[in-house]
Amino acid sequence: MSVSDKTALVTGAGSKRGIGRATAHTLAAAGWNIAILDLDEASAKDAAHEIEEQHGVQAVGLGCDVTDEASVASALAALDGSVPPVGALVNNAGITSPTRFLEVTGEEWDRIFAVNVRGAYNITRRVAPGMAERDFGRIVFLASVSAERGGGVFGGVAYSAAKAAQLGFTRALARELGPHGVTVNAVAPGLIDTDITGGALEGERKTQLVAGIPVGRNGNVADVADLITYLCREETGYITGVTYDVNGGSHIH
Ligand code: NAD
Repeated sequence: MSVSDKTALVTGAGSKRGIGRATAHTLAAAGWNIAILDLDEASAKDAAHEIEEQHGVQAVGLGCDVTDEASVASALAALDGSVPPVGALVNNAGITSPTRFLEVTGEEWDRIFAVNVRGAYNITRRVAPGMAERDFGRIVFLASVSAERGGGVFGGVAYSAAKAAQLGFTRALARELGPHGVTVNAVAPGLIDTDITGGALEGERKTQLVAGIPVGRNGNVADVADLITYLCREETGYITGVTYDVNGGSHIH
């Protein structure tokens, strides 16, 4: 077995400065072929092109809305046969919102859950059976420190609740898929420098947040990408159902 005859599927890896794209690069550098599914089709294709050029692996980028079952089904059908089978899945596509609980609407609540939880379900439900059949799989969820400490970075109650749902998803799925050679883990990043907040975490607020981080800086995408790539290794088969903090010590528990 080798990762060069497998594909790592990373959702939401279009975003240029995002965790997903950095993860796709790190996985490709480790030999994985790459499939990228992102709402923004042009960015997914751009990322795939960049990865093929830089790492000499096969890479495919497709437009896909993870909240839409038909969109997920057609993207996965397009992958079938065009790249090697999916051996790793990184459920990275996510959205956040700082809306306070006393102001949040049901519509916004549902949207946060649709992308972070239902979106991960839509993909995982379709990819996991093949992993189980082939007796090998690595699934990683992008949760958040917000799930563990109750917000306090940027995301509000809806985001914290959705990310906490991913932790339960991870643990129960790890139990169920373990006998099939599939590990399921979560990473819980703290403040990582990306565009997810649309620039809303700058200036005074950022200075305050960094003051509460023992290592004295915000995290960068490579900090998270390296950990995910480690969890996806074939050799990392005895770690499952775990949540890994990548937060510079901002939440120690
Ligand atoms: P980002 O905004 O840079 O990237 C998110 C990507 O998801 C984008 O490319 C976007 O197009 C895609 N996406 C959004 N909705 C989608 C949908 N419906 N279908 C398909 N793709 C969709 O964000 P990021 O900071 O790189 O975050 C990546 C993940 O890490 C998210 O799940 C986020 O919640 C989590 N996270 C981020 C931080 C942080 O500080 N940046 C901290 C903790 C957790």
